[in-house]
Amino acid sequence: MKFFVMAKTVLRNLFSAPATRRYPAIRRPYYKNTRGSISIAVDQCIFCGMCSRKCPSAALTVVKAGKKWTINRLRCIACGYCVEVCPKQCLAMGNHYSASVQAKTEETFSHA
Ligand code: SF4
Ligand code: SF4
Repeated sequence: MKFFVMAKTVLRNLFSAPATRRYPAIRRPYYKNTRGSISIAVDQCIFCGMCSRKCPSAALTVVKAGKKWTINRLRCIACGYCVEVCPKQCLAMGNHYSASVQAKTEETFSHA
């Protein structure tokens, strides 16, 4: 009896698609609401600092005098709270993850 159960499993696996993908040739598509990485339309930013004050992981630094907005992506937990609180709606949560890095770097954006 167990033989038939096992044979059924073997046959099913022989004729079905594999559970894994041939990464990186075949990549899993991101879902529409996947929380990936934060981006900023810095030209619309007024450097009010609301996003950095509300960020639970202190990933954001805003310098109003220098008009600089900085994100430490290794600290960001992709909660999306900064996007919600920004009064100018210049922050967005992309559904693609940021590129992997080898060093603890910060990204700074400022008006051109
Ligand atoms: S909350 Fe919005 S407008 Fe204010 S500093 Fe952050 S990104 Fe800029
Ligand atoms: S998504 Fe969350 S953790 Fe990341 S910068 Fe915005 S508020 Fe901070």
